[in-house]
Amino acid sequence: MSKNANTANASDLAFNREMDFEYGVTLKIAPGVRRIVANNPTPFTFKGTNSYIIGRGQVAVIDPGPEDETHVDAILAALPGERITQILVTHTHRDHTGAVDALKARTGAQVLGFGQTDTERGVRTTSPSGKIFVDQDFTPDRQLRDGDAVEGEDWKMDVIHTPGHAPDHLCFALTGQRTVFSGDHVMGWNTTVVAPPEGHMGDYLTSLEKLLERRDLVFFPGHGGRIETPQRVVKAYMMHRKMRESAIYACLQDGARFIPQIVEKIYPRVDSIYLPAAALSVLAHLELLLERGLVQAEGPPAIETGFVALPPE
Ligand SMILES: [Zn+2]
Repeated sequence: MSKNANTANASDLAFNREMDFEYGVTLKIAPGVRRIVANNPTPFTFKGTNSYIIGRGQVAVIDPGPEDETHVDAILAALPGERITQILVTHTHRDHTGAVDALKARTGAQVLGFGQTDTERGVRTTSPSGKIFVDQDFTPDRQLRDGDAVEGEDWKMDVIHTPGHAPDHLCFALTGQRTVFSGDHVMGWNTTVVAPPEGHMGDYLTSLEKLLERRDLVFFPGHGGRIETPQRVVKAYMMHRKMRESAIYACLQDGARFIPQIVEKIYPRVDSIYLPAAALSVLAHLELLLERGLVQAEGPPAIETGFVALPPE
């Protein structure tokens, strides 16, 4: 993999896997922003979930992380004499929300997030990692919507609804700071998993466009280190998806009908642990091709369904 990040070449995504951190230790990463990494590294969560502390004195925590008392203890220990008044949730996957209840119980903080959506949510059989990953019971004290603002003593954030990885996914932008907490929508260490029905490729691309229209200087993602060139990264990820889509369409034109055949062709060297995620990602692209009338499905779109390419209009 090339280290050259200057070209937004889709076949050459320049992932940044450098990250300076120590589990359980808060690190000041920007004015008014501290980060503490939960000790839940996996092939899907990289080093673990990032929890961010916003402000001084009366603070907000973005994504308390997995259900892990040590992590909650570490967050509280990092804030002597300070008070957590708000808990913000980017999306209801358990590696982000598992600690919400414990942190709320110990601080009395208000919990803010999108809340329930109308869309079908992911279950174990549609989980990229094979685990139950959606926190179906999450009920925020305050429901957030696109364009809302959240305020503390010395900070203000704008809410950006960015469905695609999850239907309830939110990014939080520090008002006037050109800084976005991008959750799992945009991460520098890897591409985001878009796994139906939890994930939706059309929504995901629209949500990327939403960030592309902004002029931010830095993203702080849910996993991995800061993203210093956010516009370039977003553009590269959009090109990457476009390239994948063309490759999938070409596979169908070449006579492939089933997702495993396509996966074999476009992910020839993928580690077996990522195979379910790769198959779900292909399904997400096929769903979008279906919506655009470029593909026909021989049944409800699913991993085992056959697909046929239609000629472009
Ligand atoms: Zn996550």
